[in-house]
Amino acid sequence: MSHSAASTHVPLARTVVCSPHFDDAVLNCWSVLDRDASCAVVNVFTGAPGFTSWGDRRNGAPSSAAQMQQRALEDREALAVAGKTAINLGMLEVQYRVRNNPLLHAGPLQLLSAALKQMPLLRSAVVRLPFVRPMLYATPAPEAEQIAEAIVQAVPGASIFCVPAGIGGHRDHLLVRQAGAVLASRGLTVRLYADLPYAVIHGWPLWISAPEGERATDRASALWARHLQALRPQMGEPIEHARVVRLTLGERARKAEAVRRYTTQVATIDAEFSRGGLDQDSAFAHEVYWDLQPATRDTSQPSGQVRLGA
Ligand SMILES: [Zn+2]
Repeated sequence: MSHSAASTHVPLARTVVCSPHFDDAVLNCWSVLDRDASCAVVNVFTGAPGFTSWGDRRNGAPSSAAQMQQRALEDREALAVAGKTAINLGMLEVQYRVRNNPLLHAGPLQLLSAALKQMPLLRSAVVRLPFVRPMLYATPAPEAEQIAEAIVQAVPGASIFCVPAGIGGHRDHLLVRQAGAVLASRGLTVRLYADLPYAVIHGWPLWISAPEGERATDRASALWARHLQALRPQMGEPIEHARVVRLTLGERARKAEAVRRYTTQVATIDAEFSRGGLDQDSAFAHEVYWDLQPATRDTSQPSGQVRLGA
């Protein structure tokens, strides 16, 4: 290990941006990528399945392997805007862990799944039922410890790890958040980042950016509080005490340029940003971070509090 570091003359990165999917580092931690010359990027779910998924076929991809190759290429081009390259861990993202059965993606089951998405508590209870998981998944999700270990091995010597806050409840984001909790329990510095675009589906919370003339119902704050609830004991401070980074106009322009290089994803990302998509002024105005308290023994882990949707 030490000889590879010595032989390549690459300074050891101190901060690692842990990106569940190819685009999350650029979308959520652009200020880190753009300002910190020594930071590293680790993409977790970058593997291709040995089949062509129903979703990729519907989107016209020749195969899921080709689709992931394309996404990896787009990611290299996007990260190049900040002069960065990523380390890809090759684990399977949730859409490739699910059984490749068209019945699961169409008709009544899809309606049921859409309905359950509106009822997160019921949904997490249903997917925990012992007979449901093998019905839905061909490949089990990796354990948080396994992800944490892979990240640490990928960037030896790193001490600060940026992981998703899990706002929006995406299963892969929650897995990387859990890996962050594992790293925090080892005494490493773990920083949560607000997940774009899910976190701004109702716009920014009013304590970050209050648009003029709007009614003062803060649906965004309520959404953030709900998704961060399980981590409140480890956050120590109120959610509003986040570190809000204001991107300069130059940083926003470079970030927009990088995001547009994800050509296969940009339409979806655009649709998920509320109120005017990527073109609105505020889309890339802020990035939001919270530090987990260092070396908190993760007491919520065994009882399953942070294992939301796992
Ligand atoms: Zn993602």
